[in-house]
Amino acid sequence: MTEFQRPRGTRDFGPEEMARRRFVEARLRSTAELFGFGEVMTPTFEDTALFVERSGEGIINEMYAFKDKGKRDIALRPELTAPVMRFYVNELQNRPKPVKAFYFGSVFRYERPQSGRYREFFQFGAELIGAPSMESDAEVIALALWSLESIGLKDTAVRIGNLDILKGLLGNIGITGEDQAACRRMIDKADFEGLAKHLDGLGVDRLKQRNLMDIIKTKGGKEAIAEARQLAGADIPGMDYLEGMLDKLAVYGFEKCNVDFAVARGLDYYTGMVFEIDSPCLGAEKQICGGGAYQLAELFGGETVNSTGYAFGFDRLMLALDNSGAQIPEPGLKAYIVPMGEAARMKALEILRMLRTANIPSDMDLMGRNISKALAYANSARAEKAIIIGEKELAEGSVTVRDMQSGEQTKYPMSDVLRGFLKGIF
Ligand code: AMP
Repeated sequence: MTEFQRPRGTRDFGPEEMARRRFVEARLRSTAELFGFGEVMTPTFEDTALFVERSGEGIINEMYAFKDKGKRDIALRPELTAPVMRFYVNELQNRPKPVKAFYFGSVFRYERPQSGRYREFFQFGAELIGAPSMESDAEVIALALWSLESIGLKDTAVRIGNLDILKGLLGNIGITGEDQAACRRMIDKADFEGLAKHLDGLGVDRLKQRNLMDIIKTKGGKEAIAEARQLAGADIPGMDYLEGMLDKLAVYGFEKCNVDFAVARGLDYYTGMVFEIDSPCLGAEKQICGGGAYQLAELFGGETVNSTGYAFGFDRLMLALDNSGAQIPEPGLKAYIVPMGEAARMKALEILRMLRTANIPSDMDLMGRNISKALAYANSARAEKAIIIGEKELAEGSVTVRDMQSGEQTKYPMSDVLRGFLKGIF
């Protein structure tokens, strides 16, 4: 007989973990709805070309891509922005703008698995389509930060950049086109050594290089913008925008946002504002969110439209919550009924039906266990109360209610069980 293991980079989730995940997911959902975003869902697989169009040929090596039986090139989605924008171009384009959409779904990447890096993982993201303004960019960052507050994740750091600034800085030292894109990719990966070599190769003098490095390594609040302005000497487009963005976010209640000129997001379709959020407690794989302003609809045959969006790595949110010891309520049973004997089992069923009808999470012993084993099971199911119906109780028309925390036991008339739970007497 063969014993099967799950494929590399995938995970199974047991009932306790699923309850925690669903709790966090529900909070993210309700926050997105609070901000006026509506949920969308797209297929798990798409034409491979959709992702190649968005991210370039290199993405093929990172995807689960294959030919289906009809010889079509298909890929399991590695992200959801391209599918959502494909859907937008196909069907949502004529809706009043802006279109505010959020999604939650599994994504697949053929990566080397490690802690916080999986081959199947989940993304919760939002896209605000068709509102080309600093206000819509701020709305999207605010939604991301509000979402983190809503799930109780405290130790996070947002870094906001602006590609117009990077483009301006590189343009000022004569780097354009494909060379500029290559430099931006190196900056995105914080490969400053590689960048220096590349700039040497392009003949950029060392003084200018130094100045560029100083600016892109500047981080912080408004003071960092002032510092970068001074270092740049000339007026760089995008600085005012970043400053305005920090002001807007402060009005949303997020005063501690930082700018980071080195945030470049590897992909070419990002247009202006870009941002990332880290949870430092996660170590190497600390990025929990990435996003920015982009133009993608026209690439998929739609009208040009400005959009801003982001994706949370949902699994990393869960890891960060675990690491930071955040409290997530653990669901458990309110009542676990322990009947002794056949007649008591029928009574137990009656009580169970009554409790469940009143939406009180409850269960009963199905194994015919003795009382101590049944109570041990009740404990493992995190039941608050055990309701014991022995022969004596049955004869008296009573039940013994045991508080599973304190072990205290009290007798109540059987007819009081429902009232006891509803009124919080038990
Ligand atoms: P990206 O679409 O690459 O910007 O990813 C968005 C978010 O997904 C990142 O900020 C990470 O939190 C998360 N993420 C990316 N790759 C993985 C992975 N292999 N496993 C788990 N989470 C990931």
